[in-house]
Amino acid sequence: MESYQAERERMVNQQIAGKGVSDEKVLEAMRKVPRHVFLPEEARAQAYLDSPVRIGSGQTISQPYIVALMTELLDVHPDHRVLDVGTGSGYQAAILGELAEEVHSIERHPELAVSASERLESLGYAHIHVHVGDGTQGYLAAAPFDRIIVAAAAPDVPEPLLEQLAENGRLVIPVGTRFSQQLEVWDRVGDDYKQRKTISVVFVPLIGKSGWES
Ligand code: SAM
Repeated sequence: MESYQAERERMVNQQIAGKGVSDEKVLEAMRKVPRHVFLPEEARAQAYLDSPVRIGSGQTISQPYIVALMTELLDVHPDHRVLDVGTGSGYQAAILGELAEEVHSIERHPELAVSASERLESLGYAHIHVHVGDGTQGYLAAAPFDRIIVAAAAPDVPEPLLEQLAENGRLVIPVGTRFSQQLEVWDRVGDDYKQRKTISVVFVPLIGKSGWES
């Protein structure tokens, strides 16, 4: 099967490093993970374009730059346990898997979770665990998490995610309306949280008990 290494190199240089992402560990992970494997067969030619791509069930795999930027903002260390909300294709989980000790990824659509899990297993990511459920409630069985990343738009930050952050933990999440959001970074410092807003983004809605209703 074609490896698309040259396309990945170009993607990193032009779309990611070229737009300001500079964390070498993140760039290395983006060079390594075969993004085309996470797309349906008929969409593989679009894998390395500078845009999101449809993956079925009305969902998308995020634009490479957004995956890289969110991962850089997350500041993942090798000993971290990470929660990834909105597994989708499993691509973001694989990028996290390159950087962290353990990754839990949760998806509300069972069919997406099953194919992402099979894909991640076939690529050898034994430390990435995919779960079906409402990620607005976090994943209590493996909490607390050093890092939490949410790849769907929330009306407000879900309380359970803040509660499941470890001491010095960090959450990266798009918050806003259904049509436009800002990427927010929340840091837990003792019992307090510090929040800052970064760029404007557009994500599919986070649907669940502490998200949108439908
Ligand atoms: N990270 C994914 C990837 O790398 O392919 C892309 C995520 S896609 C932009 C957003 C995903 O969030 C969709 O698959 C959607 O079904 C999922 N989602 C929405 N609300 C959710 C919830 N409450 N819990 C878990 N997943 C949710």
